[in-house]
Amino acid sequence: MSRPALPLALAVLLVPLSARAAEPLALQCERLFESRSGKLLPARTVVVRDGRVAEVLEGRVEVPGTRTVDLAGHTCLPGWTDLHVHLGSQSNPQSYSEGFRLDPVDFAYRSVGFAEKTLLAGFTSVRDLGGEIAPHLRDAINQGLVKGPRIFAAGKSIATTGGHADPSNGYNDHLSHLIGPPGPTEGVINSVDDARQAVRQRYKDGSDVIKITATGGVLSYAKSGDAPQFTVDEVKAIVETARDYGYKVAAHAHGTEGMKRAVLGGVTSIEHGTYMSDEVMRLMKQHGTWYVPTLYAGRFVAEKAKVDGYFPEVVRPKAARIGAQIQDTAAKAYRSGVKIAFGTDMGVGPHGDNAREFVYMVEAGIPAAEALQAATVRAAEVLGVDDQGVIEAGKRADIVAVPGDPVADIQRVLEVALVMKDGVLFKQP
Ligand SMILES: [Zn+2]
Repeated sequence: MSRPALPLALAVLLVPLSARAAEPLALQCERLFESRSGKLLPARTVVVRDGRVAEVLEGRVEVPGTRTVDLAGHTCLPGWTDLHVHLGSQSNPQSYSEGFRLDPVDFAYRSVGFAEKTLLAGFTSVRDLGGEIAPHLRDAINQGLVKGPRIFAAGKSIATTGGHADPSNGYNDHLSHLIGPPGPTEGVINSVDDARQAVRQRYKDGSDVIKITATGGVLSYAKSGDAPQFTVDEVKAIVETARDYGYKVAAHAHGTEGMKRAVLGGVTSIEHGTYMSDEVMRLMKQHGTWYVPTLYAGRFVAEKAKVDGYFPEVVRPKAARIGAQIQDTAAKAYRSGVKIAFGTDMGVGPHGDNAREFVYMVEAGIPAAEALQAATVRAAEVLGVDDQGVIEAGKRADIVAVPGDPVADIQRVLEVALVMKDGVLFKQP
């Protein structure tokens, strides 16, 4: 008895993308960015087997049993990590009404394209800081159903009533009464007990990291972008409960007081950090808190604030102020020795343009090599993982290549020629 074989094309479609990995490769790089030291090494051949870096050889050499990928003229770097994205959405002039018109599945379909653009821009990992789509998108990518970066997902952000990430901000009375006040399940807390419940709910939802909105936000339908929105005790309860599940906590913060409370409460990173004071910088150095500036988002919203009707009027003045301010803060924080890691807040700006953040970091006075470290070895440290962010034997084969020398000319990061994630090539010259 023989059954008809599946047509070949269909059979190929049924093989998950990730399972097509396996071909051993030898990447012959003109230069290699050694992320631990931030130095460029001359010609290296990176041998990749079974999704991992098998060895890194001196020179551009042939390796028996592998297929050669010629990267003459190119620099190889560890795949980049964007520590602040929202793959479930992308801002546009209709963003504020979309939540009322679209279904979760509409957002999910959009996120598929956003994920692929992000990966092809050289970002082999992202930390998605807010949005219910991300844990599901992560699973689809891990199963090889969708092309995208490795996702460390926060799921729904945790806020307080009326705070940035209260999902019912801006609702009229009728809707508010219909839905009722959101609680810890929806990510809104108002006590230490709520705080614990909200973190445990995120665990139940399948999150990998916790995101809190420690102050108001620029794009939320609320007046203040700076007001503190948690007590120190609430932050501490979140951080301590998060620790039970091995979670780090990322805190969105613009205003000084909220930032200070977040740092004292023990969060891992401050996101945006717009009005970061000298005192907060000192506290961050003392506590080892990371800073993820998201310069791209600041500049993007300041630009869009000039366009009539792009933002609601309550948002517009907040957006107008933020761009130049974040850029100055990042420059100051870098000079004062605060640890800086890479993040864009994409979803505010267009997915796939993430690498432009490198250019903005360099404009803020951060040397190119350190900006590249911020998205590789340092980003891995923020995530709390030790198998990525470096090109070394035994680590994940997450590799990007750009033409020329990105340390000498940071603009080259915008011309990504090769993207490999877990040993699978998604783009090559
Ligand atoms: Zn964000």
